[in-house]
Amino acid sequence: MRALALSSALLLGGCVAVASEPPSPYDIAITIDDLTWVGPTHPKGEVAANHAMIHTLVAHGVPATVFVNCDRVDPSLGILEAWRDAGMELANHQAAHDDLNKTPPPAWLEGVRRCDTLLRGLTGAPIAHFRYPYLYNGPSPAVRDQVLAELTGTLGYAIGRVSVDNHEWKIADYYGQAVVAGDQPRAEALADYYLEHMLAGVDNYQAVAQRKLGRDIDHVLLLHANSLNTDQLDRLLTALEADGARFVSLGQALKDPVYALPQAYEGKWGYSWLYRIAPLDDDRAWDDASWQEIEARFGEGAPGATAHP
Ligand SMILES: [Zn+2]
Repeated sequence: MRALALSSALLLGGCVAVASEPPSPYDIAITIDDLTWVGPTHPKGEVAANHAMIHTLVAHGVPATVFVNCDRVDPSLGILEAWRDAGMELANHQAAHDDLNKTPPPAWLEGVRRCDTLLRGLTGAPIAHFRYPYLYNGPSPAVRDQVLAELTGTLGYAIGRVSVDNHEWKIADYYGQAVVAGDQPRAEALADYYLEHMLAGVDNYQAVAQRKLGRDIDHVLLLHANSLNTDQLDRLLTALEADGARFVSLGQALKDPVYALPQAYEGKWGYSWLYRIAPLDDDRAWDDASWQEIEARFGEGAPGATAHP
């Protein structure tokens, strides 16, 4: 519509001021973690909720990658088969979502291999991508490098890095509780805030990329398999499209050379790849401010907050 308005104005040849420019296009991969489910159960149930997310992604032409915690999978439900058959990529998120900061690497890697075996059985092919639970790469550079060598060398994985980190999981937790409690006004307020937060997150990491690299990058967005995306993914994808997003596969996004840069971050926490390549003191200003905003608006003690079980 914006492009049509612009060409009409040009064709008329008048002095019509065009109010809005078309959005600048950018490539972004949609990734969904913690399959087959995380957080409060959706009233539709886990199977129908997963099918709703698949349907939305197909309708928007999104080649999504889903990161599976294989110990959460009930094979009798056929959920992973539905994702696979819809053309989505199944990827490894460690079987039990074990915390690498607390789990000895041999046991943690055993969980990676266990999930690899299950996923290969479903796809009949090697699994291309792995993502660390909590985005924790290891408690020290030594463990980080040892585990990375095993993942990328022995196991042959590419790491599913994230550029647009966000607090979707926290909003989803509040949203899921509100849905279970039947608190529709609170669920709607959280859904509206979700869209605002995610678009602000994309803007923020585009600015971070410009600041560090002098250019935008191909982005990777982190979402989870939860009630929030079961109900709101269509609105999110529509809003991203209007913002200029072009949905690409994770493999395509990871071809951006930014993801081949060495990791400079030596801490143990889960951050955006754009932080890890060159940590700066003000990198997390948006993350911290938006976290405080979520807690102020929706956390315990916020005005109008409802207590949920
Ligand atoms: Zn996870």
